[in-house]
Amino acid sequence: MSEKGSDLEDKLAFSPKSIWEDIDEEKKEEVFNFAEDYSKFLSSSKTERRSVEESEKILRKNGFKAISEYEELTSGDKVYIINRNKSLAAAIIGDEDITKGCNIIASHIDAPRLDLKARPLYEDKEASVALLKTHYYGGIKKYHWVSTPLAIHGRVVKEDGTPVDISIGDDPSDPVFVISDLLPHLAKKKQAKRKTMKVIEGEELNILIAGIPLKDEEVENKVKVKVLKLLNDEYDIDEEDLTSAELEIVPAGESRDVGLDRSMVGGYAHDDRVCAYTSLRAVTDLDSTEKTSLVIFFDKEEIGSEGNTGANSDFLNSIYCKLLEKYKGEYTLQDQRNMLDNSKAISGDVCPAINPSFKSVHDIQNASSLGKGLVVTKFTGAGGKFSANDAHAEYVALIRRVFNENDIPWQTSELGKVDEGGGGTVAKFLANLNIDIIDIGIPLLGMHSPFEVISKADLYYMFKGYRSFLETE
Ligand code: MN
Ligand code: MN
Repeated sequence: MSEKGSDLEDKLAFSPKSIWEDIDEEKKEEVFNFAEDYSKFLSSSKTERRSVEESEKILRKNGFKAISEYEELTSGDKVYIINRNKSLAAAIIGDEDITKGCNIIASHIDAPRLDLKARPLYEDKEASVALLKTHYYGGIKKYHWVSTPLAIHGRVVKEDGTPVDISIGDDPSDPVFVISDLLPHLAKKKQAKRKTMKVIEGEELNILIAGIPLKDEEVENKVKVKVLKLLNDEYDIDEEDLTSAELEIVPAGESRDVGLDRSMVGGYAHDDRVCAYTSLRAVTDLDSTEKTSLVIFFDKEEIGSEGNTGANSDFLNSIYCKLLEKYKGEYTLQDQRNMLDNSKAISGDVCPAINPSFKSVHDIQNASSLGKGLVVTKFTGAGGKFSANDAHAEYVALIRRVFNENDIPWQTSELGKVDEGGGGTVAKFLANLNIDIIDIGIPLLGMHSPFEVISKADLYYMFKGYRSFLETE
């Protein structure tokens, strides 16, 4: 007896389809509600510090306590560790011995943005305004950042160590800031001949901050000094205090539903707070797990995972030591080694969705699209897989099994065509510790732009998929 062509195709071919086809009204409400919660988180987590603060609130609401609050750790305990207000780890201690390893989901909470320079403030006499100089962070297209409302969030630390948090531009009653572009009427010579990535250059990313001069004949830079006075009155800081500050310029405003059918969420820094949030929801949704569940948010991924809050640091080892100390009291280096060797991880990060207007950069058969589920990216890197984490076939099989057994829709993807470009994630740094790890995230349109877009269906199933992974024995 011969099988019909379409039956054979169903049986043998792998062709991910739109999740929406299988979502009924009841499920759709669940999917949309999840997206609404996420959207609020995204709107109030504009920096890595703010992401840590918002995450800590969610953790505490769900019974997680700081590690310092525990005398000892035992199975079922919910604990978190914060590193310098910029990276965070949250764990549920498993039923199985902790040295049998953790199920880890690692993501990053830093995002491309403009940082202020150490001496940012200046007055332009001819233009009669005061401005702030910036230094961009991460891979941006600089022209995205002009002529759009901007907010400032961050921390100034005074000489005596007092922190002063500043947050202006996201409350509807706040003023916003802007970098003015050149008008088209006068752009024909100066700007039109520049190459795309230089349409706006680094030193042109200057933020308009004030225009009223101080009424004092003695003062030379009247607008600048007026700004300093405003800052001093409001925050009790002076110009030198700005040298020990981390003030980040980010797009102003909230995340929004996108599309007539509201099927998508648009906002700043889905990359990679979407993976952070869904992994956070996954770990807080669980009461106990066989293996220790560990969710980590790293900082500095966008600049190569450098520094002591980035993934290329000993932060994970430090987490393991802290957990072991409270779990076992005395522990050996071999215990720590076993815990690493036995751990399995997902690197949660976003992946480019097929851009309908720029399809030529993708190998369509090996690209992801919105609404078709989690993206499994076996390897990252550039060219001939340089700088890649390339997950082992055995590990990819395990991941497939977890998702298929739990009805999690998934697709595969490469970053783009083989020789088109490239990039990496935190995956390779955990792989260096002898942990099996693979990139699993969701497709995204407009990556690294001020308004990135994801599908609500992918978002929901990423939460479900991450939860299933943490429960894996
Ligand atoms: Mn990125
Ligand atoms: Mn990322």
